[in-house]
Amino acid sequence: MVARTVPVEAFDLIVFGGTGDLARRKLLPALYHRFAAGQTPGDALIIGAARRRMDGAGYRDFAREALTEFVPESHLKPDLVEGFIAMLDYVPVDAATEAGWAALGRKLKGREARPRAFYLSVAPQFFGQICERIGRGRLVTPETRLVVEKPLGRDLASARALNAQLASHFDEHQIYRIDHYLGKETVQNLMALRFANALFEPLWNANHIDHVQITAAESVGVGERGGYYDQNGAMRDMVQNHLMQLLCLSAMEPPSRFDPDAVRDEKLKVLKALRPIEGAAIDEEIVRGQYEAGPDGPAYREEAGDPESRTECFIALKIGVENWRWAGTPFYLRTGKRLKARHTEIAIRFKDAPHSIFGDSAGALKGNALVITLQPNEGIELRLNIKDPGPGGMRIVSAPLDMSFGSGAGDAFRMPDAYERLLMDVIRGDQTLFMRGDEVEAAWAWIDPIIAGCEEGRAPPAPYAQRAEGPMESHILLHKDGRRWREIA
Ligand code: NAD
Repeated sequence: MVARTVPVEAFDLIVFGGTGDLARRKLLPALYHRFAAGQTPGDALIIGAARRRMDGAGYRDFAREALTEFVPESHLKPDLVEGFIAMLDYVPVDAATEAGWAALGRKLKGREARPRAFYLSVAPQFFGQICERIGRGRLVTPETRLVVEKPLGRDLASARALNAQLASHFDEHQIYRIDHYLGKETVQNLMALRFANALFEPLWNANHIDHVQITAAESVGVGERGGYYDQNGAMRDMVQNHLMQLLCLSAMEPPSRFDPDAVRDEKLKVLKALRPIEGAAIDEEIVRGQYEAGPDGPAYREEAGDPESRTECFIALKIGVENWRWAGTPFYLRTGKRLKARHTEIAIRFKDAPHSIFGDSAGALKGNALVITLQPNEGIELRLNIKDPGPGGMRIVSAPLDMSFGSGAGDAFRMPDAYERLLMDVIRGDQTLFMRGDEVEAAWAWIDPIIAGCEEGRAPPAPYAQRAEGPMESHILLHKDGRRWREIA
């Protein structure tokens, strides 16, 4: 299978924070890959804008180094690298003062007809000032887009304030709130699977689905970012954005069209249908954890720099979606650091067959599972019960129907990074895979009381061992319901 690329028109992209980690690791490599694939034209202009003092040549050297470090060598073709590098320029700009803004304005003068994207790859405290200065400098054209990254607030009040700041200079249709999980091929395939096949949708409800598990496990710890992480925790860092988005795409009704507002309207309805978790339900339906010291490093509290920290770096939740489709079918979510493996998946667990005709000797019939893996190896697997092959008796085993996208495609195959897809969507002006402001607020409206409840005189997060699957309490959460987590592998 060779992916077809539809070229985008010539564009101007201004990356505020163009010298930062995100630009180096993700944005510049993603833009290079799209250029190398022939999707972006050679006369696009990509301007790094950050506080560091350097000129265009300096930035081109910076980008060359970033590509050498983050693009696989087999994809680095010297003529393509030079073609890409030639599109780059740099303007030293201070978000917090007037320095550099006039120079940026001059670079963009006369280019108003092109799609123009401002990517705010800076700390969120600068978002307001940058938008203000972009607005005052009259840099917003009808074809302008604004791209922002998480964190989009830390609670409902700050998310509303941020949305209001963005709205003072940009219309909602110009704002692209990135959640890079939505740019993953498998996440889009979840929608294709559900809405392009007649096979699954009739079964996609509480009558046939026992429960859904969404896991985002990381093997790394918080490390040097511990102090920063400790102000947020897993709920803000992972659940409010990535996991809620995966839940929405799994649970939403079929949109009438695959267009931005139709899709986002349906996701919003899911967020509004989530059963609140408050009071005693917090103890019943939420498990929080912190890793202990172990083979991979110090304990969470030590890395966070606070021996009394009550911030969770692991969380598991049981979530109810209160509508006809899902009544009685829980969604279990978990995410955490320093776990057994780096693995993200959505597992749809269908109900068990109502009766086994094969008798006890055939073994138990496990319910079918549709498993959508986002990382490390994107793919979809449908687990079916089949006869154990061979001349023995009729024994039933669970076997996968496997659609691993990367396997068998040879060394040259490279799964495009989510940022590649999302950056091209920004240029094309397609917001389908970006969060709308009301979605972000609805997620916070559901999350805020949970965070407040967890902080209200409850026990601190439960300790758990490194390289394991989180605290025992997380297993008990499902055990109470007669279910178990899939192994993190
Ligand atoms: P970083 O600290 O590596 O880079 C910050 C950038 O902002 C630098 O280019 C710096 O020069 C610039 N900057 C700082 N102060 C400035 C000012 N006053 N005026 C102009 N530029 C200024 O940060 P990062 O890791 O690249 O992250 C950037 C943003 O993206 C953050 O909001 C972060 O939360 C978010 N984010 C990052 C990642 C990631 O993988 N790194 C992932 C998701 C979201």
